[in-house]
Amino acid sequence: MNKLTATAPCTAHAATVEKTGEVVSAALLTQRVAWLTGLAQDLIACVVTAHWNAADLDALASGVGLDGRVLPTKGWMAVRRLGWGTTPAAGMYVCDRVLRCAQEQAARLLRLALHRRRLVAAIVATWPHNPQARTRAEWDALRVLLPDGVTLAEIRNRTRQIRAYRDEHEVFPADLTELEEPPNVATQIVLAAADRQLVTLERTGNRSARLRVRLPLVESPASGKDWTWHVLPVALPPTVPPQATLCAPTVRVARGRVRVDLPFQTLLGFAPATGHVIGCGFDWGLNGLLVGVAGELADGRVISDGRPLAYDASGVSAKLHRLRAEREHLAAKHRHLEKLLARITPADPRYVALSTARQVLGVEHERLCARIRNLNKALAWSAARWAVDQASTAGATVIYLEDLTTLEARGRRGSVNARLSGQVRGQIIEAIRHLAAKHAIAVVTVPARGTSRYCPRCGDGTSVLKHCPAPDRLTERGWRWAYCPACGLSCDRDWAAAERILARGLLGQHATRTHRTTGTRTIHTIVEGNVARARRTRKPTRAARRARRTRTDLHPRPAARDRSKNRPTPKRPTRTANNTMINSADDLAEHAMTSSRVPDRRTVPAPPPTGGGQRPAGHAPKPGRHQPHRTGHVRNSHHRTGLHHAKATPVLTFTEHRGSPKQATPVRVT
Ligand SMILES: [Zn+2]
Repeated sequence: MNKLTATAPCTAHAATVEKTGEVVSAALLTQRVAWLTGLAQDLIACVVTAHWNAADLDALASGVGLDGRVLPTKGWMAVRRLGWGTTPAAGMYVCDRVLRCAQEQAARLLRLALHRRRLVAAIVATWPHNPQARTRAEWDALRVLLPDGVTLAEIRNRTRQIRAYRDEHEVFPADLTELEEPPNVATQIVLAAADRQLVTLERTGNRSARLRVRLPLVESPASGKDWTWHVLPVALPPTVPPQATLCAPTVRVARGRVRVDLPFQTLLGFAPATGHVIGCGFDWGLNGLLVGVAGELADGRVISDGRPLAYDASGVSAKLHRLRAEREHLAAKHRHLEKLLARITPADPRYVALSTARQVLGVEHERLCARIRNLNKALAWSAARWAVDQASTAGATVIYLEDLTTLEARGRRGSVNARLSGQVRGQIIEAIRHLAAKHAIAVVTVPARGTSRYCPRCGDGTSVLKHCPAPDRLTERGWRWAYCPACGLSCDRDWAAAERILARGLLGQHATRTHRTTGTRTIHTIVEGNVARARRTRKPTRAARRARRTRTDLHPRPAARDRSKNRPTPKRPTRTANNTMINSADDLAEHAMTSSRVPDRRTVPAPPPTGGGQRPAGHAPKPGRHQPHRTGHVRNSHHRTGLHHAKATPVLTFTEHRGSPKQATPVRVT
């Protein structure tokens, strides 16, 4: 069984002093926690700044302590083994467990710096001819040196950072310590490194826990008497299952409240790499943020459920684009003000006004960055939740996605969805991995090359598709349609690409590789195959059921007319009996003429509701029946994405209509 660790954000509103039972108000508790985190922060900053040099980072990276033994994985132990221990300021009493927590956090910061250092070294060693566009050979050379799991956003940001340094100093940075100042130390205390002498945690109910922690009673505790045990009741959010194991939290003060970031572990079912029959494939779409399809493997061929799944985030994406433009604008203004300020002295009368303006702009810029970050995160989790819900309702045991590392060379641009940064896609993959793990669904990436280029229906990945504007959106840019001249397939290009991804995954699953440390699953070899589209068996209509019940013909032929003409053709009344013209709908209804040729019921599907108005009672909409599937773009959907302007195909269970693969008839397009 694997374990999944997640963090629940909790708040401690008050506490009691264990020994006396005295109630500690929220304000006083906040102050005491702030004293503790402040003490820890000073200690951490001490360790980090003292060892922010190449020699000490080398020592930490070597993984060997002063005594020649291998460094332990626990950060605080490694720091002590290297002889980097700290002592609190003279006259202060800080117990050893608080020191441990501080050293643990310092070790984590320095170990993170080691990762960045490897990145910087690799990028400098393979500095490309043109830093804005690496060639394929340059990418390959860089990937050899990089550690696994480095995202494109990281590479791009580091490349920009190094380029800026080189432009300023005209040499490459010799080490990370030249490129960056020592990392900022957050005011928080990682209690994971402590033991029962500083913290205990127990669950008191399904939705509550009790945190006991020793807190200082004064800002500078001088002896052990200045520390005492506090009991903090913590309410757990509903995302923490009752059987989850709680771990020691991280405590911090944010916005005047004591935040308890509580990690919890849940046991997971195992998702195997191979042996999948039903799977879902998702494409990073042009028309939707994610376009997917569910399908199954039957007798060595892939039959897809003939229903495209689309998550369209055009609205959110456009919003993000506007926010990013605004951010660039603010940054440019900020730079300009800094340039102006550099030319004048603080004695200048304009200095005060300019520096105030710069400060205001700085705050605004920070807020805008936070807004973009939050929106990205919300979008990523919403899309991931939707994708995993679709997969689990389809009964899929695996989700196939495009490998982002092979997506770089293509650079899809033009549509609003394509503008979403690679970082959002990386976040979506991470979120899908996390959520899928809870359902024991495997997440596997397949090569992205050529997924939207070849026809999924014929030629086993050799017949090239033609891309043209969608037939119902001829004037819109970015809405692309795929047409296969060989077999006549005509459908949304992202849908076709999703089918190819599904085929590559299901057919090539024997080549799935699981990474030893990160556990991520990848398929590197491309196995191509055609995808048939299954037609779901529909429930018979009411007329058909009636015909079967009464054993009558569903489409009866009209009775043969007597052809012998033995009387004059009767004159058709064009006017009503009292000789008035029909000039309104009411008149028509009053004097309605019936004809045997007029059907007594609607024969075409009702048009989808166009918003507004109230649905008549008892007429619940039947989702999935009359969906506009033509471009994969879903209007009037009822799926709750949690975001305005993000529309997605509703998650529906089709198991009873779906039929087994043997009954499913593949559509033959001729
Ligand atoms: Zn074709």
